[in-house]
Amino acid sequence: MADLYQTLGVSRSASADEIKKAYRQLAIKYHPDRNKGDKASEEKFKEINHAYEALSDPEKRRLYDQFGEDGIKGTPFGGGAPGGFDFGDSFGDLGDIFGEFFGGGSRRRSRSSARQGGDLLMNIRLSFDDAYRGVKREVRVTRSGRCAKCNGTGAEAGSGRKNCPTCQGRGEVRVSHGFFQMAQTCPSCQGQGTIVEKPCKPCQGTGFVREEKELSVNIPAGIDTDQKIRVAGEGNAGSGGGPRGDLYLAVQVADHPLFHRDGNDIYLIVPVSYPQLALGAAIEVPTMEGKVELKIPAGTQSETKMRLKEKGFPSVQGRGRGDQYVVLRLEIPKNLSGKHKKALEELHIFDEEVKERPLFKEFTDTVKRIFSS
Ligand SMILES: [Zn+2]
Ligand SMILES: [Zn+2]
Repeated sequence: MADLYQTLGVSRSASADEIKKAYRQLAIKYHPDRNKGDKASEEKFKEINHAYEALSDPEKRRLYDQFGEDGIKGTPFGGGAPGGFDFGDSFGDLGDIFGEFFGGGSRRRSRSSARQGGDLLMNIRLSFDDAYRGVKREVRVTRSGRCAKCNGTGAEAGSGRKNCPTCQGRGEVRVSHGFFQMAQTCPSCQGQGTIVEKPCKPCQGTGFVREEKELSVNIPAGIDTDQKIRVAGEGNAGSGGGPRGDLYLAVQVADHPLFHRDGNDIYLIVPVSYPQLALGAAIEVPTMEGKVELKIPAGTQSETKMRLKEKGFPSVQGRGRGDQYVVLRLEIPKNLSGKHKKALEELHIFDEEVKERPLFKEFTDTVKRIFSS
């Protein structure tokens, strides 16, 4: 997916007006009705709309700046923040120009409708242990809330609504762009046709105020990096009596100095000696539930994976759990002492006894077979 700013040909610091202007010019140029049957234009038109939809909404733009395409992908972030434009609005802006293309006059959007508040995305970092056991986390979320003074209406107590003087209640204003006359959503009333007589002071007539809330969130055991936890109804406040959006917590789990996680399985590498592998041994190994004894059978090869059943992560869905694998890695000693060296030199003589080394015997037999002819 191309960079959304590049798609609209604006800089990352472009103002809302610059974005709108760039979108309008491109949308006119690439509109399917002007480029009938041209697949490339159609694709371009879709990309432009996708870019405008994201960048014209302050909340989505913030998510895009922070997380890229992932931040605005899919349903979680589809809920438009208050004051943002949805797809319908962006066409509304172009109403007059596209009127003929759409086969109708400029359309009126509904004057007041309840809209769900936007979703929020926050990152949380968990320790390996917290992800294994689950944890209760306090998170502090900054979001938009309904203004308590005016109960979200934006009007001062006792003050009603009056016809918007800017657009005379039409919800649209006409703006000249070169030789085009365009109908544009009225900036004074956001297309509603009415404005409050006296704007409420704390929210400056928007009906929303910034609020901070401390939430206690249960993080389920077994959660992994890149999974998201949905906290329903704790996102931005809705408008027109609409419900709040949701809060999503994007999880990052820290590495562990010993254990490595793969899905719900845990891997642990244990350095062992040649005699331990050759003769067999009982060793103590750590698990997330404490130490357990592991029996190494005589004649075990280096890099053998031994399974400790159900000593892995619990499944985040709550059913079953992973295993722990212990990887036995032969450690070849360095800086040998005299005594140790002598013992190995003796061992070297026995090493010639090929019958005790079936893998080596098989190897030499195959070499002989292939290269003897
Ligand atoms: Zn208010
Ligand atoms: Zn107006």
